Amino acid sequence: MAEDYYTILGIAKNASPEEIKKAYRKKAMEFHPDRNKGSKEAEEKFKKVSRAYEVLSDEQKRKLYDAHGEAAFEQGGPGGPGAGRGGFRGADPMDIFNQMFGGGNPFSDMFGGGGSQESTGEDLRHDIKLTLEEAASGVSRKITYRKHVTCAKCSGSGAEPGSKKSRCPTCHGQGHIVRSSGLFAMRQVCPTCQGEGEKIEKPCKACAGEGRVVAEHSVDIKIPPGVDSGTRLRSTGNGSAGRRNAEAGDLYVVITVLEHELFERDGDDLACSVPVKFSVATLGGSIEVPKLKGKTLLKIPAGTQGGTIFRLKGEGMPSLRGGGSGDLLVRVDIDVPKKLSEEQKEALKAYAHVSGDAVTPVSDSWKNKFKRFFG
Ligand SMILES: [Zn+2]
Ligand SMILES: [Zn+2]
Repeated sequence: MAEDYYTILGIAKNASPEEIKKAYRKKAMEFHPDRNKGSKEAEEKFKKVSRAYEVLSDEQKRKLYDAHGEAAFEQGGPGGPGAGRGGFRGADPMDIFNQMFGGGNPFSDMFGGGGSQESTGEDLRHDIKLTLEEAASGVSRKITYRKHVTCAKCSGSGAEPGSKKSRCPTCHGQGHIVRSSGLFAMRQVCPTCQGEGEKIEKPCKACAGEGRVVAEHSVDIKIPPGVDSGTRLRSTGNGSAGRRNAEAGDLYVVITVLEHELFERDGDDLACSVPVKFSVATLGGSIEVPKLKGKTLLKIPAGTQGGTIFRLKGEGMPSLRGGGSGDLLVRVDIDVPKKLSEEQKEALKAYAHVSGDAVTPVSDSWKNKFKRFFG
């Protein structure tokens, strides 16, 4: 049995979101690949804690997990945000990590670097649904969402306009403090000033000294041709504004492509089934076939069998990575009439009579195989 997510993070079943976060931070730091050069075991553990955190930190996913265990996120599971095609199963452990630590290197402070990654703005996610045609052509979408933006009153400084800043008494303006732990002296971001080295005398009233406020924000997202369900686009800097003019997070736009009435998609290829009248399949003819843009005539040779696939080169989806398009696969199905008029019946009976169908109701090649099997 797979190890329980709660056990992996070393927390109780009723752990609070804050406890889950804390446990993940600790474990993720411990097993981070940067600190365990080349260790496969650490890498596996890092993936496990990331996966556990991904699920347990999301209220809905946690409920599903509590009810169904890991099965909740398998293909064909009871559903939920992680299940099925285009689901969000197994986000990149590094993405989860960077989201938690704001993308900066969390070890830089311990090993002498500067920075105040605590202040960096959070990454955000926005979902967009597209039709297959929109996914093929590419579109621009204006999206509006709420996020932290730089406070206009204090221009992000966090200080009431006209007020003074003084040296942080905890770190004496250094932005970091040194703590000794066993053999090592470790540098940490100053908890009082979050690495800024300054203390604000009078925090800005509009943002309570944060330097940022929550507001509605709009951005135009250019979606390139060829996206599929699950495609993630990054809009740099359109996540939350950082605290006191620290770097902003990124916005991740996650695409869902809606089902189409005629086409099914398989990577860059499209597939379409056309039920063809049996006489046309037998005698040959032409049928109209839909394409993403417009339609085309497809020649059906005499004697076409049901299930035959015709490949229309380059009529599929454009490749997201550029360089051409997939194909359109047209599958011919035989449409067997369910109701016949008297006249049609007579004509068909005449045909059956001429062909000897009453005596041999199956194909000759199959009849021969059948005979061989029974000696
Ligand atoms: Zn302000
Ligand atoms: Zn300080």
